Amino acid sequence: MPLVSIECRRNLQEGVVRLSSTNTAIEWTDKTWNPTTGCNKVSPGCKHCYAETITKRFPQHFPTGFKFTLRPDRLKEPTSWRKPSRVFVNSMSDLFHEQMTLEYLQEVFAVMRECDRHVFQILTKRHERLLELAPELDWPENVWMGVSVENQDYAHRVDYLRQVPAEVRFLSCEPLLGPLHLDLKGIHWVIVGGESGLGHRPIHAEWVRSICAQSRAAGVAFFFKQWGGIRPKAGGRELDRRTYDEMPEAWERHLRRLDKSRLVAS
Ligand code: SF4
Repeated sequence: MPLVSIECRRNLQEGVVRLSSTNTAIEWTDKTWNPTTGCNKVSPGCKHCYAETITKRFPQHFPTGFKFTLRPDRLKEPTSWRKPSRVFVNSMSDLFHEQMTLEYLQEVFAVMRECDRHVFQILTKRHERLLELAPELDWPENVWMGVSVENQDYAHRVDYLRQVPAEVRFLSCEPLLGPLHLDLKGIHWVIVGGESGLGHRPIHAEWVRSICAQSRAAGVAFFFKQWGGIRPKAGGRELDRRTYDEMPEAWERHLRRLDKSRLVAS
């Protein structure tokens, strides 16, 4: 689900290729992990899919192009990351793609359970497959699950997400393409951002203010990532002269748990 990192964009501009799991400049996460790559477009938010651009630009790193591909060579990467991190799963794909096998998905979840020092943030546009497979998965508390909602036509993805037993359920309203009226019951975090790059579609301040107000009214953490523009940070990231960098409470709980286990171990 490419919210592709600024680092990837910079790499593209500078002709540098570092497209595996990596540290990232996405503000709400620390690293990306891609146990699968490739996808296909399912809704208007996919129009300028950056993962597709990257796979076309660097075919030597993506021998199967933008075709959905399991990458078992990357499956165990998080086990080697010692520093506790927020890990965005699949910046180059969609974990609930129709060609994903249940067996491999369960292996991905087993790695996430094993790496309980990290928090894993999964984002999908395949809400139906998510709900279909959710009962077959073991949901450790360090797995956060989100759906993309780019306009009101896709607000029903939230109803599917609400039924998934994840510790944190979140929405990524990026690229935000229209006003949203959201039912935020059972949702813990909302991220909003505008589109960037050539042909970016405009975002309107009143749409963002409204989602911020809806989040406030529902007691949901609100994160405003960027206005977008030709470059991701072209318009900055302030809304009415302040930034919104809220994280769900579960993040503090996770950090406290880590502190406690460090104390016990010392
Ligand atoms: S679902 Fe995500 S990765 Fe797949 S085509 Fe759409 S934007 Fe790209």
